[in-house]
Amino acid sequence: MMTAPEMLEASSVAAEESRNLSELSNVDKWPKVVMRLAPFPSGPLHIGNARMVVLNDYYVKRYNGELLLVFDDTIGSAEKVVEPDAFEMIPEGLEYLGVEWHRTVYKSDRLELFYKYAVDLIERNEAYVCDCDAEVWRKEHKAKEKACKCSILSVEDNLARWEKMLDGTYPERGAAVRLRTGMADPDPAMRDHVILRISESEHPRVGTRYRVWPLLEYSWGIDDHELVVTHIIRGKDLVKEGKIEQHIWNIYDWQHPELIYYGRLKFQDAKLSKSKSRREVLEGVYTGWDDPRTWSMQSLEKRGIHPDAVRKAMLDLGLSVVDISISMKTVYSENRKLQDASAPRMFFVEAPVWVELTGLPPEIQEAEAPVHPDFPDRGVRQIPLGRSSDAAVPFVAGISERDLKRLTKGEIFRLKDLANFTLKKGRRPEATFHSVEVDNVRTVGGSIIHWIPRETAVPVEVTMIDGAVVTGHGEPSIKNIESGTFLQFERVGFACVFDVGDPVRVAFAHK
Ligand SMILES: [Zn+2]
Repeated sequence: MMTAPEMLEASSVAAEESRNLSELSNVDKWPKVVMRLAPFPSGPLHIGNARMVVLNDYYVKRYNGELLLVFDDTIGSAEKVVEPDAFEMIPEGLEYLGVEWHRTVYKSDRLELFYKYAVDLIERNEAYVCDCDAEVWRKEHKAKEKACKCSILSVEDNLARWEKMLDGTYPERGAAVRLRTGMADPDPAMRDHVILRISESEHPRVGTRYRVWPLLEYSWGIDDHELVVTHIIRGKDLVKEGKIEQHIWNIYDWQHPELIYYGRLKFQDAKLSKSKSRREVLEGVYTGWDDPRTWSMQSLEKRGIHPDAVRKAMLDLGLSVVDISISMKTVYSENRKLQDASAPRMFFVEAPVWVELTGLPPEIQEAEAPVHPDFPDRGVRQIPLGRSSDAAVPFVAGISERDLKRLTKGEIFRLKDLANFTLKKGRRPEATFHSVEVDNVRTVGGSIIHWIPRETAVPVEVTMIDGAVVTGHGEPSIKNIESGTFLQFERVGFACVFDVGDPVRVAFAHK
């Protein structure tokens, strides 16, 4: 058995190591392992990015390496827009996940470097400037595996054309730099691939200082070498990008970083679209980037999902090229394991129906419920009833309509942790006091119902996963709970408090 200090030293990484994640290949060919996260800053990280992030962090920690955060902020496109807030939100998401990175790099700071290599590739006759119409090129050249007229121009002509790209002589879409990947490549996407193009869009960081922008795969071909990245873990949708990179590395005879691909990951119950989220956030349909429908790290944190639940679910998937489809329930199940024992219990009733209860002995002024049913030593919490000491005044409790409908007239039921009552025969929801002992209801198989006292209940708003807001009432002690507390509304589910105002607002986590 390990002693306490040793257990502390056994970091979370070591704990994670027991899982089925193989060694990185060729680690000894490099001075140290360097890996990179390469998010395109179109929004915060969402659950679909978590695997890439967690795997990189895991391996860097395992090999005591270095992790770079490289913002892939090239100019993007009309569909893929750089979102300025993402430069803040992405690091926030990484911090939430416990990812430790050592250096932050912006692609938009490195344009001169990409230009330098563009000139060099042209001078080596490995690239040329093509001013053919894109549509014509696709139909007449790419599809027919036939080089265009530009590809036979001299280096001098190409350098002159390059200058015209930079100085504005060529309009947008007027010319592009193509890498000579070969017109006979069996993969049409690999035929003399475009590596730099003209865009006059304004960039949030560098404005309109540059009008020629690299494509991501070209920028990576250069940067993975320049930043001495040793291992690249990425989705297999980026195999083509990897081939372009390898082509560039071969031109320069650079040592190839190890390329490791994993299969697609689909979440059955989470629709992931950064562009849709961006639109809905801008239009105010979503409450912000922490709206549950964005599936951002911010939204998971708001819902009280423990980052280790996300990490474990992602690492358990391993590193295989096979496509996987999982449910968010995997993450929820991990979260329950991590947090159930520490989550305080509370009563919450959605849209309560108020029931008049007569005959409750006036000395009963509060109910006592366990803080956590599995841990009796944690004691009890008080639920003050706020009732009159006049026995003739009925006590009013709120229960859910569903519970009320399940009861039949004359049936004995129990308000959990308070007392037993008999439902009256009548149109209004009324009941009379029966007894206090829980056994009296157990022996007849009566229902035990969650409830809240009308006089002291606190209005609560619950934001559900689909963005719907459910209103109801919670027991009085919810007022004293701190923002950020992860709790369980008994029989409803787990939720996290994010606003202790009036009403108290919580984000639903899971059942
Ligand atoms: Zn051409």
